[in-house]
Amino acid sequence: MTETQNKNPANIQQMAEKIRKGDRRALARAITQAESIRKDHQESAQALLNDLLPDTGKSVRIGISGTPGVGKSTFIEAFGKFLTGLGKKVAVLTIDPSSKRTGGSILGDKTRMEELSRDPNAFIRPSPSGGSLGGVARRTREVMLLCEAAGFDVILIETVGVGQSETTVADMVDLFMLLLAPAGGDELQGIKRGVMELADIIVINKADGDLIPVARRAASEYRGAVGLMRPKSKNWMPKVMMTSALKKLGIDELWQTIEEYREARGADDELETQRSEQAAAWMWSEIDESLMNHLREHPTVSALLPEKEAAVKAGKVSAAAAARELLAVFLGK
Ligand code: GDP
Repeated sequence: MTETQNKNPANIQQMAEKIRKGDRRALARAITQAESIRKDHQESAQALLNDLLPDTGKSVRIGISGTPGVGKSTFIEAFGKFLTGLGKKVAVLTIDPSSKRTGGSILGDKTRMEELSRDPNAFIRPSPSGGSLGGVARRTREVMLLCEAAGFDVILIETVGVGQSETTVADMVDLFMLLLAPAGGDELQGIKRGVMELADIIVINKADGDLIPVARRAASEYRGAVGLMRPKSKNWMPKVMMTSALKKLGIDELWQTIEEYREARGADDELETQRSEQAAAWMWSEIDESLMNHLREHPTVSALLPEKEAAVKAGKVSAAAAARELLAVFLGK
């Protein structure tokens, strides 16, 4: 598509129509545009998203986090296949701010989820490369909406604990799932307490073979820990489950628990409220980011910035005074 075609409303509508019908090539093209940093691509991506907004929101949004090696890809493959086996369409998106187009990423370059990636009812999209966590998150959110408009029933958003990525994922899903290894103690597993508190369901994976007794012990230990935490919702106490992604055990029970979760939190429109609040928070983070960009790009401000920053570093001007001065320039006061 040429630039002018991109922005043509008729073309946007045509593209939206194709996406609504589940056309994968149109979906992939729309995603590429949403991920592009080119201004014209961004504009047409926004126009397309606006057109598709009424068709979004019908999926179950699930976040999945866990340290490398805990079995995320094996789990998503097993869980994804289970879901497509139920006749559902599943999209798998990833948030990994460490991923670069050229370099490696924490989630690895190995072919992940080979079987699922061949499934016609599954769609796997790796993390957009490079950029800040905020930038990656924004694009993932948009991709999630595009996938919903294309008729995906379940969206799985995967992340490893890089920086704030778990919080970022928890802020865009209905349910946050933490995968843990069958071992005792969160200190042992390098799990931050804050991350535990985000979890609606804790899954002890690798509960198979010799690891079964350890998994059971870990599950009961985490049940105890969860019992001491203040629950996020009055309608749901976080549950601890066991799975074996490798042997495909416990997956159906897990899905059942997810259904129970949706039912429990559907009461009082809790999930709807959560989604509305997430959307509003998203708007504010867009404003934050956009304002910061405008500020940095402002010619007088950007000319003054190095000098002001140096003065603050040298202790010649207070941080607050320098900030006020720069903002006054920006606002033309
Ligand atoms: P990721 O880094 O979190 O994506 O983890 P992978 O899915 O790549 O799994 C890491 C290793 O754990 C691999 O060798 C898997 O075969 C193994 N693994 C994953 N799930 C299970 C499981 O349920 N049971 C056992 N025994 N091993 C597993």
